[in-house]
Amino acid sequence: MIEFNHVDKYYGEYHALKDINLSFEKGEVAVIIGPSGSGKSTLIRTINGLENITSGQLTVNGYDLADNKTDINKIRKNVGMVFQHFNLYNNKTVLENIMLAPRIVLKRDEQENKDFAMHLLELVGLANKADAYPRQLSGGQKQRIAIARSLAMKPQVLLFDEPTSALDPEMIDDVLAVMKNIAQTTDMTMLVVTHEMGFAREVADRVIFFDQGQVVEDDPTEEFFKQPKEERARQFLSKII
Ligand code: ATP
Ligand code: MG
Repeated sequence: MIEFNHVDKYYGEYHALKDINLSFEKGEVAVIIGPSGSGKSTLIRTINGLENITSGQLTVNGYDLADNKTDINKIRKNVGMVFQHFNLYNNKTVLENIMLAPRIVLKRDEQENKDFAMHLLELVGLANKADAYPRQLSGGQKQRIAIARSLAMKPQVLLFDEPTSALDPEMIDDVLAVMKNIAQTTDMTMLVVTHEMGFAREVADRVIFFDQGQVVEDDPTEEFFKQPKEERARQFLSKII
C-alpha cells in the first residue's frame, strides 16, 4: 500500500534520503529509529506530501506522489499524522478539534460526526474532556486528542513522528497504550518514529534503522532485538536501551 522505489530527497544541496526502497503492507506496524538528523521525519513526511521527493517513485494507495497531476488531498484523506507537538487548534474545544476535518473534508453528517468523535474520546480515555480547550489539558492528554483527531478521518495509514518525546515520563505510557490498542484492534498501517523500544518490541511487526539518509537495517522485530546485522544499528541500540 506504500511503496518507495529508488526515492531520493534533497534539501538544496543536502542529500536527506538516499535511494530508499521500502514497502509497507496494509495493517503493518513499523517502528523507525535512528540518530538525530538521519532523515526519519523526512521519510514519513514524504508519505503525505509534507515533503516532496526529488527523484524515484513513491506510491500510496496506488497514488503516485511524484506525479504533479496527483491530487494530494486524496492521499491526505487516507493518511493521518500525529506530531511531536500535537498541533491542536488552541481556540477550539476538544470535540471541535476532532469534528472539524470530517465535517469540512468528508462532509460527514453532523450527528454522526459527533457520535463518532465521542466514541473516539472514549477510546482514548478522555470523554470527560469533550468541552475542554487544549490549554486545559496535559501534554499526554493533548497527544491522545491529537490521535483521536487523526482517527476521526478513518485513515488507512497513520504516521507518528516521535509522539511521546515531548511528554513527561508519567504520560508516555497512556499515549503508547492508545497506540498499541489501535495497532491491535484495527487494520491501519502504522509507521512510528520513536525511541520507545518497549513499544517497538511489543507492538511493531518490523523495525527499520535509519542512518545518514539510508535504510541500514530492516528486520522483523524479534530478529532486530536479538541481533541487528549491522554494527551501526547494534551501537545505536546499545545506547538507547
Ligand atoms: P530528529 O531525530 O532530530 O528528528 P530526523 O531523523 O527526523 O532527526 P530529519 O528532520 O528528517 O531528521 O532531517 C534530516 C536532515 O535533513 C537533517 O540533516 C536536517 O538538518 C535536514 N533538513 C530537514 N528539514 C530540512 C529543511 N526544511 N531544509 C533543509 N534541511 C532540512
Ligand atoms: Mg525528526
